[in-house]
Amino acid sequence: MERFILSLDEGTTSARAIIFNRESNVLSVGQYEFPQHYPKPGWVEHNPEEIWDAQFRAIKTALERAKIEPSQIAAIGVTNQRETTIVWDRSGKPLHNAIVWQCRRTAEMVEEIKREYGDVIKEKTGLVPDAYFSASKLKWLLDNVPGLREKAERGEVLFGTVDTFLIYRLTGEHVTDYSNASRTMLFNIRRLEWDDELLEIFNIPEEVLPEVRESSEVYGYTKRELLGAEIPVSGDAGDQQAALFGQAGFEAGMVKATYGTGSFILANTGKTVRYSNNLLTTIAWGLNGKITYALEGSVFITGAAVQWLRDGIRIIKSAPETEELARKLESNEGVYFVPAFVGLGAPYWDQFARGLIIGITRGTGREHLARATLEAIAYLTRDVVEEMERLVGIKELRVDGGATANDFLMEFQADILNRRVVRPVVKETTALGAAYLAGLAVDYWESLEEIRSLWKAERVFEPTMDEETRERLYRGWKEAVKRAMGWAKVVGA
Ligand code: ADP
Repeated sequence: MERFILSLDEGTTSARAIIFNRESNVLSVGQYEFPQHYPKPGWVEHNPEEIWDAQFRAIKTALERAKIEPSQIAAIGVTNQRETTIVWDRSGKPLHNAIVWQCRRTAEMVEEIKREYGDVIKEKTGLVPDAYFSASKLKWLLDNVPGLREKAERGEVLFGTVDTFLIYRLTGEHVTDYSNASRTMLFNIRRLEWDDELLEIFNIPEEVLPEVRESSEVYGYTKRELLGAEIPVSGDAGDQQAALFGQAGFEAGMVKATYGTGSFILANTGKTVRYSNNLLTTIAWGLNGKITYALEGSVFITGAAVQWLRDGIRIIKSAPETEELARKLESNEGVYFVPAFVGLGAPYWDQFARGLIIGITRGTGREHLARATLEAIAYLTRDVVEEMERLVGIKELRVDGGATANDFLMEFQADILNRRVVRPVVKETTALGAAYLAGLAVDYWESLEEIRSLWKAERVFEPTMDEETRERLYRGWKEAVKRAMGWAKVVGA
């Protein structure tokens, strides 16, 4: 009987389950959204029961659509929205809503801790202290949920990111993997252990922490009452790291960029921990007794700028229309758009930057704005890749995410980076990465070499732009960015 791998891709707005076959093709997908809860301005929560329901229904749907029995699943891999923080008791009952990575409730707490311990935290965890990561969220729960701290000290509370919660519900094991642990801001990424000093700074009792395991090994087996079969759960990685793995980015210098609402760019740096002031250092995965590290840069607004053209100023009807418009022009004709709607992320880190369109003349039309938007996405990616390049040699860029459907964007990206841009056949790289990790642990796939041979490019975009044009365009971009920076301060908004 043919066997398959089930990948659980638990995102910020929906949970998906995807079944892959041995050639790593998608057999079926189940997907359900779950509600977002906003108890106060700037606060974001999920109900863990709603996440579980959506995830479990997605599993059922995927199995039904593939017309296979649970016993045909050789292994399950999990990948998840990172940093989101959950506490539950030993029966699996959540003790509060999940505090989502976007939630800003602990921003002030972190500012205070950062002043004293910023350097220590960066050195130990690779992260720039921010409310984004789990540590301050967990501290908030322990300090604010009545009775939680006492319960935790009695060993009755389990903490975890969403991977850990799902694996606990599936198997009863309280575990996470290195990649997820490295986003908590409590994990020492060199010594590979929960860090005593950080636990003290955030006042976290050690009893609540999951065991940290490799990203590819059997953590446990699904409880029989769930699916009627005991299936090994054997892969776990945060979504961005899983995408790098799903792109077969196994060697130092391999980079992937995911173009969604915003963009996430990860560079494999191999066995070496590398630090940059403007990027995060993180664990990509732990596999076969070895840790692979990565540099990460996130850009807040990329695909969302295309959405703004459609829904905000309504100059296009659909996202793909940007390509047709952009191609009507030979060049950008000096028009640039810096989509700094919520400030600028890596490598600028300016929360006061605001969006700007510059270079407008009487002849400027919607084709200029469409082109400037797509170009901006490519320039923003180059900004991050250049920063990475100082620390690790980069050969090509492997891409995924919704906006990679845009061939103009991909061509321009190759030109402006002066590097090959490679788009894979299987676009579900996040889910695929978790599937690969799970499959490797149970010998469904034998080796990284086998996986490398399964990974296939759908299209390669080669750079064709001459150096003079490339650098002139990019200089224009840098000047536009300068003019966008700090704007909210200037106007006091
Ligand atoms: P997310 O996972 O963040 O929701 P997706 O990977 O689904 O994002 O990508 C959706 C984003 O990609 C949207 O912001 C949309 O504007 C953009 N997008 C989708 N198709 C295109 C296209 N053909 N050209 C440019 N942008 C696109």
